[in-house]
Amino acid sequence: MIDQSFTVDTLQKLVRINSVNPGLESDGAGEEEVGRYIFSLLEELGIEVELDELLPGRFNVTGMLPGSGGGRSLMLNAHMDTVGVAGMNDPFSGRIENGKLYGRGSYDMKGSIAAILAAGKAIRDTGWVPKGDLILSFVVDEEHKSIGAQALVKKLKTDASIVTEPTGLDICLAHRGFGVYKLTTYGKTAHGGRHRQGIDANTRMGLLLAELDKLSKKLPEWKKHPLCGEASMHVPLISGGRSLFIYSGECTIHVERRTVPGETETEIDSNLHEIIQKLEKKVPGFRATLEKVIWRSPYEIDQHARIVKETAAVVATTLGSKPAFIGHTWWEDSSIFGEAGIESVIIGPKGDGIHEDVEWVDIDSVITLAEILYRTSLNFCG
Ligand SMILES: [Zn+2]
Repeated sequence: MIDQSFTVDTLQKLVRINSVNPGLESDGAGEEEVGRYIFSLLEELGIEVELDELLPGRFNVTGMLPGSGGGRSLMLNAHMDTVGVAGMNDPFSGRIENGKLYGRGSYDMKGSIAAILAAGKAIRDTGWVPKGDLILSFVVDEEHKSIGAQALVKKLKTDASIVTEPTGLDICLAHRGFGVYKLTTYGKTAHGGRHRQGIDANTRMGLLLAELDKLSKKLPEWKKHPLCGEASMHVPLISGGRSLFIYSGECTIHVERRTVPGETETEIDSNLHEIIQKLEKKVPGFRATLEKVIWRSPYEIDQHARIVKETAAVVATTLGSKPAFIGHTWWEDSSIFGEAGIESVIIGPKGDGIHEDVEWVDIDSVITLAEILYRTSLNFCG
């Protein structure tokens, strides 16, 4: 059964290690120290463990409980990096108060790392050898480019995975994806006093922005998903022009399009291309380019998939009530696993303050999560 003091102690130590993603914050400590800590804990538990260094000091940690053969394999997964700590008081305190443990990453998602390790320890303690392999996976870089998850799916095959992003112990079956696009309009630089020569890229961008605004207002009605809600779009960055008294030759924006399951990359690309084409027809000399910077697919798994049914059954007996099925509005590594053919379900602890100034995780829910992971692994791997 779950060793509660091991779980809480491990969680506290994890939170006290800075693992801010260096891709997001230039002074971020990265995952090296937290990865080494997890590596040594797995070794102490007698679990086979491998490190895969993807960039200097940034490695995935993968624990393996090999099966005796003939069963289904399962991966329990969490990411080791966190977002930055600006605005937080004492971000690495690991302070415990009224059943809550505070600090950056406590909820997203070191509570989950502790729960996975506790589930692994429970399996070790009972001496049980599953038929299928059980993989305990801790990846780098989920908060930025997901190099960890992408490298992982190239390295290993597994029948299913449980991604332990926070869900309040509900079962998450779907999440939104996103695309980031860079759009540039072109004008012609000229002295501000020579209006017959100059073409203003910034006002041309204004025309494009007006079209994007129309599209974003249409999205909530047009693209909806029962678990994830509405699709959305916004323009987080804009920059144009060089100086006062010069016509702007170039204006650039970044568009962030949040997609719901069912929306495809080709469809979103062509929505944006159509806007440009429409303006090219309407406005003489209008010229703009479109470049895709990032694409992350939305994710959805069938309620009747085996990993979902088995997880839901364990949640029901552990909590004494049927679990709720939910969706997330943000993107997660489950999408990469899903695209690699690994059926993935998402369940994690209770808490609050994801990417906010005060972050905490509910300690009891971390222990319950460990219990759920332990029992689901027993059932699933056979
Ligand atoms: Zn997360």
